[in-house]
Amino acid sequence: MSTGPTKIRVRVAPSPTGYLHIGTARTALFNYLFSRQHNGQFLLRIDDTDKQRSKKEFEKDILDNLRWLGLNWDNKSLIHQSQRQKIYQKYLDELIKNKKAYYCYCSKDRLKKSYQEQIKNKRVPRYDGYCRQIRNRPQADWQTIRLNVDYLASDQETIHFKDEIRGDIATNHKTLDDFVIANSKTALYNFTSVIDDHKLGITHIIRGEDHIANTPKQILIFRALGFDLPKFAHLPLILNPDRTKMSKRVGNTRVADYRAKGYLAPALINFLTLLGWHPKDNQEIFSLTDLIKKFNLKEVQKSGAIFDIKKLNWLNNYYIKQLPEKDYGELSRTFVDGDKTINRKVAWLFKDRLNCFAELKELTARLIKLPDYRAEILVWQKTPVGKIIHNLKFCQDVLQFITIEKFKVEYIETKLKQGIEANNLTNGEVLWPLRVALSGQEKSPSPFEIAAALGPDETNNRIKLAIKKISNLK
Ligand code: GLU
Repeated sequence: MSTGPTKIRVRVAPSPTGYLHIGTARTALFNYLFSRQHNGQFLLRIDDTDKQRSKKEFEKDILDNLRWLGLNWDNKSLIHQSQRQKIYQKYLDELIKNKKAYYCYCSKDRLKKSYQEQIKNKRVPRYDGYCRQIRNRPQADWQTIRLNVDYLASDQETIHFKDEIRGDIATNHKTLDDFVIANSKTALYNFTSVIDDHKLGITHIIRGEDHIANTPKQILIFRALGFDLPKFAHLPLILNPDRTKMSKRVGNTRVADYRAKGYLAPALINFLTLLGWHPKDNQEIFSLTDLIKKFNLKEVQKSGAIFDIKKLNWLNNYYIKQLPEKDYGELSRTFVDGDKTINRKVAWLFKDRLNCFAELKELTARLIKLPDYRAEILVWQKTPVGKIIHNLKFCQDVLQFITIEKFKVEYIETKLKQGIEANNLTNGEVLWPLRVALSGQEKSPSPFEIAAALGPDETNNRIKLAIKKISNLK
């Protein structure tokens, strides 16, 4: 009987010991893309064997933000390692029975002394295999279970694996000691991960470069249990611009923080993809659907990927500009207090300029509530004060004849510009003071946009105030 090709199955396996990290989101994304382009499955596993550090609050954050990013997993019920100890126990017993693993009774003190001794002799500290020899000890006393690496690989052996991104990676067996696979309370990550990857039929393990050192250990566990090996791919580290590792302590690594600041999910997806993969044709904007077509795991770079916030801002600005008016309005309302029409209109003025929605609060607040500005900034270059007053009055005249229905950006602009021309005035000498009168700031959106957002009454009040302020300068 011929069997068809194995169905691709991948997973992301976060530990709920912290909020969803940018790196984990990128790992999830690359796994997701790989599964979708091969009609495979993408599973989510929760690595919560560390009871002390795992928290439901973190798990919730991880699930919630993966969903927000659109990285939906295929397993209906979640896989929690904390609920699988019985399964792990069965395999631990099997390994002990076959002498491929053994109980270790060494106290922390003994281990410490032995390691110090080795360091003194300029050797890399390894477990000395003391308990490998000693059997027949009272069962209850054991501290840990160790893999009998000596039994599983000959001294001369080099453990190889072909990384899908990096090619051949070789580890000398001598650098691996009989590492711990369980303590008296629980089976540990390297072991539990292998059991689950086998049980769940994972075909490709795609994860961060920080796990490269675990891979030869896991390969030995696969070997000890007679399981087929999956393929491995290690994604490049994510670095700060100064090339230091982007850890939880340096740089902002929480997906939830970007979401809270008003970065859009498609912008983050686009950005995360470029943290390690670039298409040959230099296309920069991708939707998740484009990515499923174009992404190629084998093209992922080996060297660290720099997290460039400017790039993220640029992408987010691009995606904000594409938002339909309704979505922009809804999102801006969550960032700008109140839902009055004027707030909505003012928020709209910044649609093309935002790096993220969080910037709106300050930008709109400054326009909604006129700042107490200095009269001097109303003056365009060296225009005489009398002329500024004249020009502001001219604007008042033009604007007061525009009906409320026509009080819109283009119409206001046309009318003012026609008036300027007809009266032989210059744009700068009129529009600068008008813009400052309406915004109270040297930098702001155009006076036409602000006037339209403020409406005729508030526009008129602000011009009046400016005339009053500048008259005091005379
Ligand atoms: N729980 C591990 C982590 O969060 C999973 C690593 C793996 O993918 O094997 O890094």
